[in-house]
Amino acid sequence: MSTATGHSSNSQPCYLCGSTHTEDFFTLPPIPTMDGVMSNSVEEALNAVRGQIQLRFCHYCGYVGNEGYDPAKMCFDEYDFSNAHSPIFIEHTNEISQKLQKTYNLHQSTILDVGCGDGYFLKTICNISKSKGIGIDPGFDFSSFKKNGVDLQFIRDYYTTDYQNIDCDLVTCRHVLSVINDPIAIVKTIRENLGERKETIAYFDAPFVQHTFGNQVIWNVVYENRSWFGNTSMKYLLERYGFDVLQVYPCWQNEYLAAEAKPRPLGQDPATPDADQVQELYQTVQAFTEAFKTLKAEAKEKIHNLKQNKGQRTLAWGAGARAISFFNMFDLKVEVPSIVDINTKRQGKFLPGTAQSIVTPAFAKQYNPELIIITNPTYQNEIKAQVKSLGLNPEFWVI
Ligand SMILES: [Zn+2]
Repeated sequence: MSTATGHSSNSQPCYLCGSTHTEDFFTLPPIPTMDGVMSNSVEEALNAVRGQIQLRFCHYCGYVGNEGYDPAKMCFDEYDFSNAHSPIFIEHTNEISQKLQKTYNLHQSTILDVGCGDGYFLKTICNISKSKGIGIDPGFDFSSFKKNGVDLQFIRDYYTTDYQNIDCDLVTCRHVLSVINDPIAIVKTIRENLGERKETIAYFDAPFVQHTFGNQVIWNVVYENRSWFGNTSMKYLLERYGFDVLQVYPCWQNEYLAAEAKPRPLGQDPATPDADQVQELYQTVQAFTEAFKTLKAEAKEKIHNLKQNKGQRTLAWGAGARAISFFNMFDLKVEVPSIVDINTKRQGKFLPGTAQSIVTPAFAKQYNPELIIITNPTYQNEIKAQVKSLGLNPEFWVI
């Protein structure tokens, strides 16, 4: 069928709103699916489970989803919540906690964090607001968690309707909507569990579609990110499943989109998504696809030079999601044999797919690289400062 915007639609429905006015706009070859988990051996790394990225855009609600996503290829029972180790992450966590505390006068309140990860955010916000915190997450072992006198309770489990008795003033669900197969289900469960508690505030955040696609951060497009939300799709999701959206705004240097909401009666229709905003996002994803072709050509040329220049000592810095996408997409290994990571849990392990060994900053000092590939631009300033403090003076390539 032909559409008002002049492109043809395929018949595949949008996951979020069901519209068939959709378009598959981006595909990648199969890459390792579990970005948060490093491999224990070279063999395990080489045999990492791989999956296809196939992104679909919805012309009605603006939802962007990876339709190649297969939940069977994901496992959240053992997840590495390593972002908590970064100063930027800590600063961001403090900011959100303070904002929520001030906006909603949280004091001696009860805060429920659904998908609480390693509990760092919950501990921060409860500490600031002198509140009691309950964190639920299937993927973290809380047995050695240091509560430091903060009133916290952790439950290692999936969040279900079994938890409807939890009476809370604030429920948060951070970095979850994007990485689960069925974000609708979790929003529905949270709403259902709130029942008649109409005064409870709900806070959600997820990677901001405009950041990754607008800034053409290609390496952010990772398999585990099943959903990409923008203003229109986040609003649609929450309104459709029983929330009034109080505020939707970008945060964490625009990388994330946050939404604050309040329960409303179930069964109300969501507002029609703003067509201009959806159209604007469509142009953004189109430009992204074009830019990707150029980026790929440029990276290939740099890699070609790297392969020619065999004696050059090269290291990468940051063994996260982008590193996995980057090294696997270009099958780059021998030229860059090691990746530095400040996270002690990653050190000594191997990058899924290409099997680089993950090493310490001390290793980098001894290796004295001539080139360092920075795999995450967000952390480039802190990485460069650390490299300098080691007495090294390499060239940098920020991917
Ligand atoms: Zn849609």
